[in-house]
Amino acid sequence: MLNKQYTSMLQEKDVIFEIFQYATERAKVVGAENIYDFSLGNPSVPAPSIVNETIVQKVNTLDPLALHGYSPSFGIMETREKIAVFLNKKYGSSYKASNIFMAIGAAGALAHAFRAVTNPGDEIITFAPCFSEYKPYTAGAGLKLTIIPADIDTFQINFAAFEAQLNENTTAVLINSPNNPSGIVYSTETIKKLADILTEKSKEFGHPIYLISDEPYRDIIFEGVDAPYVANYYKNTLTCYSFSKSISLPGERIGYLAVHPDCIEADKIIEICPQISRTIGQNGAASLMQRTVADVCNYTSDLSVYETNKKILFEALKEYGYHCVEPGGTFYMFPRSLEPDSQAFCKKAMEKDLMLVPGDIFGCPGHFRIAYCVPTERVEKALPIFQELAEEYL
Ligand code: PLP
Repeated sequence: MLNKQYTSMLQEKDVIFEIFQYATERAKVVGAENIYDFSLGNPSVPAPSIVNETIVQKVNTLDPLALHGYSPSFGIMETREKIAVFLNKKYGSSYKASNIFMAIGAAGALAHAFRAVTNPGDEIITFAPCFSEYKPYTAGAGLKLTIIPADIDTFQINFAAFEAQLNENTTAVLINSPNNPSGIVYSTETIKKLADILTEKSKEFGHPIYLISDEPYRDIIFEGVDAPYVANYYKNTLTCYSFSKSISLPGERIGYLAVHPDCIEADKIIEICPQISRTIGQNGAASLMQRTVADVCNYTSDLSVYETNKKILFEALKEYGYHCVEPGGTFYMFPRSLEPDSQAFCKKAMEKDLMLVPGDIFGCPGHFRIAYCVPTERVEKALPIFQELAEEYL
């Protein structure tokens, strides 16, 4: 008999994929130029040319056996060293190469972080709105995921609900800032308050509560936004980073886990990561990519289009009567739907060939996500449809 858990997952709808599929089919009928697809979080700007140049240079100059050979299970030492140096320079941290574990994207880093600091049956807490994949990610590690309801006026942390939920079975807290789907960046005040609570509760419960900080959008921050480096405020932090978004390499599956040097059992956490890799079959990130990001970790794509799109869309939506908390980064926006049922609202939008994602899958009904990682001209052309949709509710 086939595995029951995975078979039952087939019954769960992959809402985003269904919308994308519908958009693809519909494009065949009305033409791709008439479909406004804001469903997927795929970067819309290419990786900087230095990425391809570096790959070519590695391929042309390195010994093929070394280049394509197995990577050490922790990652290639030179890459870990360069990432530690880069982080220390940028954030004033004090990582050593031994605090860095190379992973297969943020998803891979998270898979290791969850398993390193929790045991099956533990509770992990996160905050709505949150990335829809947190459910399968944490279920795979045997964890009980608790999602704290959103503070919908700010999308900062709803601390009252959080403190009421924390208990001795909570061994980890998972945050994602800049956030998918809201685009909100947690302020220094929020991070400090979170750190204070975690410190106090760790003492009270007699065990550390680890903070797992999922940061694939860390470099997509808009001008003037307060964007603290989370690990600088709480030593028991495991930072999960990815090169998928900031340098537009989602298909190359490359990222890392950085464990704060003063984290309780920091060395042990990294030491057990290769053992985790063995059990989940995620052994070693691709070596060509590891060697490439070592040389380009201080670059990003030209991310300016995301801020341009945000400004245009945010101002226009406000004018049309939508309510939205202004994003501080990413390429997402999360306005309130114009009727309480966000699925019905997104269905109406879909009838106008405007593809939006209902907030329910992010643990925050009554909202919808716009992924504006598209050319600016597409955003501008979609504005009359957002307006027409709003007018139906006035
Ligand atoms: N975490 C968040 C919040 C994301 O939005 C994504 C991807 O969209 C991931 C993790 C997974 O990132 P990666 O593609 O690097 O595995």
